[in-house]
Amino acid sequence: MYQFKRSTDLKKHLDLVRKSNKSIGFVPTMGALHNGHLSLIQAAKEKTDVVVCSIFVNPTQFNDPKDFEKYPITVEDDIKKLNSVSTDILFLPSVEEMYPEGLESDLHYDFGNLETILEGKFRPGHFQGVGRIVHKLLDIVQPNQLFMGQKDLQQCLIVRRLLAITHSPVKLVVCPTEREKDGLAMSSRNARLSPAARKKAPAIYQALLEIKNNFGKGLHFLEGAHEAFDALKKQGFEPEYVDILQLDDDMLHPLDQPPGNATVVVALAAWLDGVRLIDNLILQGNL
Ligand code: AMP
Repeated sequence: MYQFKRSTDLKKHLDLVRKSNKSIGFVPTMGALHNGHLSLIQAAKEKTDVVVCSIFVNPTQFNDPKDFEKYPITVEDDIKKLNSVSTDILFLPSVEEMYPEGLESDLHYDFGNLETILEGKFRPGHFQGVGRIVHKLLDIVQPNQLFMGQKDLQQCLIVRRLLAITHSPVKLVVCPTEREKDGLAMSSRNARLSPAARKKAPAIYQALLEIKNNFGKGLHFLEGAHEAFDALKKQGFEPEYVDILQLDDDMLHPLDQPPGNATVVVALAAWLDGVRLIDNLILQGNL
C-alpha cells in the first residue's frame, strides 16, 4: 500500500493512475477502522481499479471539543487492516496540510433543511465542517466514485448535495450499515462504551426494528417513534431524537401524512455512558 502525507505527492501519483486509464475509488474515514470501513473498501475494490482511503480526524466537524479530544487514534492497527483488504493507497494528511488557511472560515454551503434537522439540529456546524473537508479531499483525489456508509445517512445526503452544488462528476455509492452480531451498528465510538453499556447498546437497533415492523400498519406507527424515545430513556439512554422522515428530492422532511411511494427512513441518536450513538433504518424505498 502506498502512503502519502502530502496532497501534492498523492495528486502526482493519481495523475499517473488516471493516465493509465484506471478508475479511482475513494473512501474517506477518520480512522479507528472497523469492518464497516473495510466493507466500503471492499465495495470500492469491486467497482473501481485503484482504491484510496484517507484517514483524517477532521477538527472542523466536531462541534464538541471533548469528542474531538477523545476520538480514538489507532493508525498502526488501521494500516494493518487496510493492508488486509489490499487497499492501494492511504492518504494520511496533517491538519496543517488540509487547512493551510486555518480552521476558521467564512465559507458556507447551502445544505437547505438538511443542516437543521436530526444531526444538524444537535450538532450545529457539524455538516459545514463535513462539507469543507469532503470538498477539499475530492479536489485532491478526484475519484470516479466515492463510497460512504448508510450508517451516516444524513452525511450521505449532505455529500450528495455538495456534489450537486459543486457540479461534481463524482458518483456517490451508499453502502449498507455493517453491524455486530447483536445488531449494534459498528462505530469507532463503540470502543468507548463500558462493558455494561456495550451490553445495553443493541437496544437502539431493536427500537428501530420495532418501528420498521410496525411500518405499513397505518400512520399510528408514527407514535412508535415517541414510544421508542421513552423506552430508551427508561433503559438509561439519553435519546436526542427518534424521527421518521420522508426523502423528497434528496431533502428529508418530517412524515405527517401517508408517504405514498417516497423513501421513508427512521433515524435515531442517543447518548449512552457518555458516548453518542446514531443509527437508522430505511422503512421503504431506497436512497
Ligand atoms: P468515519 O470514520 O466514522 O468518519 O466513517 C467513515 C465512513 O465509514 C463513512 O462513510 C461512514 O458512514 C462509514 N461507516 C461508519 N460506520 C459504518 C458501518 N457500521 N457500516 C458501514 N459504513 C460505516
